[in-house]
Amino acid sequence: MLSNQKSREELGLKYYEQMIHRCFRCGYCKFTSDSIDINCPSYKKFKFESFSTGGRLWLIYGLMSNELEWSDHMSKILYACTTCGNCGENCKLLSRKLGSEFAVDIIEFARAEAFKNGFCTENAINFGNHTAKEHNPYLEKHEDRLSWLPDDFENPEDPEIGYFVGCTSSYREKELARNTFEVLQKIGVKFSIFQEEWCCGSPLLRTGQREIAINQAQHNLELFRNKNIKTIVTSCAGCYRTIKEDYSRILYNEASEDNLPFEVLHISEYIKRLLDEGKIEFKRNSNGKRKVTYHDPCHLGRHAGMYDEPREIIKSIPGIELEEMRKIKGDATCCGAGGGVKAGFSEWALEMASNRVEEALETEAEILVTTCPFCERNFADAIKEHNYDIQLMDLVNLLKEIL
Ligand code: SF4
Ligand code: SF4
Repeated sequence: MLSNQKSREELGLKYYEQMIHRCFRCGYCKFTSDSIDINCPSYKKFKFESFSTGGRLWLIYGLMSNELEWSDHMSKILYACTTCGNCGENCKLLSRKLGSEFAVDIIEFARAEAFKNGFCTENAINFGNHTAKEHNPYLEKHEDRLSWLPDDFENPEDPEIGYFVGCTSSYREKELARNTFEVLQKIGVKFSIFQEEWCCGSPLLRTGQREIAINQAQHNLELFRNKNIKTIVTSCAGCYRTIKEDYSRILYNEASEDNLPFEVLHISEYIKRLLDEGKIEFKRNSNGKRKVTYHDPCHLGRHAGMYDEPREIIKSIPGIELEEMRKIKGDATCCGAGGGVKAGFSEWALEMASNRVEEALETEAEILVTTCPFCERNFADAIKEHNYDIQLMDLVNLLKEIL
């Protein structure tokens, strides 16, 4: 693409038009990579072709060519998708040309059309409006963002990294924010945390509210540029994927040479780097030998391709044994919280989380470890609902014990 050509953001669904038409509805996007186990949560639930990517692409094509009209039912079909990315992994036709993200990109741009046409879900519009004003989707005040941070913490003059806390850890999973803070302190790195941080924009991009998402992203980009931060570390898989993968595409024309002025690392990637450089080492775990299993969050796994770092960290913790679940990495079962589904279809989200926790129970692990506070919230709800006998932990919580 030449630099004077329109960007993907400007073209929206038009950018994908030819590829949408090229889908020949073979149906492979519903399955795992090596079996005919249905792994598209949406098709599994609604059992109708429209609720798979093949079906949705056909409907989207109908909307684009004005052969179909917007309706509440069309909106339900478009929003009943966790944007887990299983379909992109398994479509051998379209992902060859567009990369495995293509299906989720198309769904997100179709949702942007739903939003423009007044067919976005009410819950999503509410958290979108709130984010425009208070910069978080949890209907909380911006001024309370760092309420978890010890009063005596001061940003150093020459920080090595900026810790991007994210809205879920700031307002709903504060233990993860506190534990990440403690881990960074134990490591001895000079880090900054900013009250001026805004929502990364993920919930808005996933639900089609792109303009508000771009405003949040632009603000964060300027914040970190002005503070001269060269490395951003996140403890949330959703913030990681959004800043690392989406910001380049929504803030820059892909045809230009310009890109983000900082690197973006998930905390597990950062810890792995320090381990490899011999800058940190793990103490023996005082809790005895423990068996854990690991859930790949869609944002970190299928969307960002990070499968190894969390596993390598877990395997190098003395006294911890990793027992894998049946479906892992690109075939991992989605936790059910993403793509606005937890807000829009809460009972279904709980059902999906319960399925995944039951897969974890099959391993007889004592602890289910993940690297995403949003997955953790959904799993916690399922464990509470069914009284499942398994402990839930973010990888950072494990690290806090052994650094
Ligand atoms: S999206 Fe890909 S895998 Fe799914 S039906 Fe279309 S061509 Fe087949
Ligand atoms: S993103 Fe996930 S839920 Fe949505 S169509 Fe693809 S496989 Fe199904």
